[in-house]
Amino acid sequence: MNLKLNENTHDLANSILKNLKSSEDMGLLRCVQCGMCTSTCPGARHSSYNPREMIKKILQGDETVIEDENIWNCFYCYTCHSICPVGNSACEVNQILRQIAIKNGKVNDKVKPFIEFGDSFLRLAIGGIPSIFFPEMREDIGEDWWDFKNNLDEIRKDLDLDSYIPDDESINEVRTLLINSGFEKRIKKIEE
Ligand code: SF4
Ligand code: SF4
Repeated sequence: MNLKLNENTHDLANSILKNLKSSEDMGLLRCVQCGMCTSTCPGARHSSYNPREMIKKILQGDETVIEDENIWNCFYCYTCHSICPVGNSACEVNQILRQIAIKNGKVNDKVKPFIEFGDSFLRLAIGGIPSIFFPEMREDIGEDWWDFKNNLDEIRKDLDLDSYIPDDESINEVRTLLINSGFEKRIKKIEE
């Protein structure tokens, strides 16, 4: 089944296709609703997120998809991107939808981990697991992981390894890049 579009339902899909992040010739308008993206999507397996539904809403011009909190359950593994038979990428579409959501102030609490991730790059020049996930990880992985995490510096010293945190010069270099590229400003905007 190929979705037949009316002219006035094209707006959202076309604005996604025109976005800088969209690959050339992305097959959004060619989606046949086969559901392969959803059947292979780990985000769909563990939450109510459904990439096929997300694409369907876009093709129907249903802008409620922008504020659907489920779009924040994709973690960009790109499985859907590689498997789609018509060259669509639910993953890229999702990234663009999130940009639109942020731009229009349609974000929800699910964005918090991303802010912490961005902050980590600004402070330490490396990413880090957002602390919001720690309690569940501690429960799922166990106390050994928690001890390991909290004693990492000591363990590395014992093993004669340097700190995993980059030196000040590298941190400043990365921070300058992130400020000059507008990354820091964007993180602040999301925080607001
Ligand atoms: S795999 Fe591709 S064609 Fe199939 S539903 Fe997903 S986006 Fe549409
Ligand atoms: S990139 Fe996102 S939508 Fe695609 S399979 Fe991975 S989690 Fe699912």
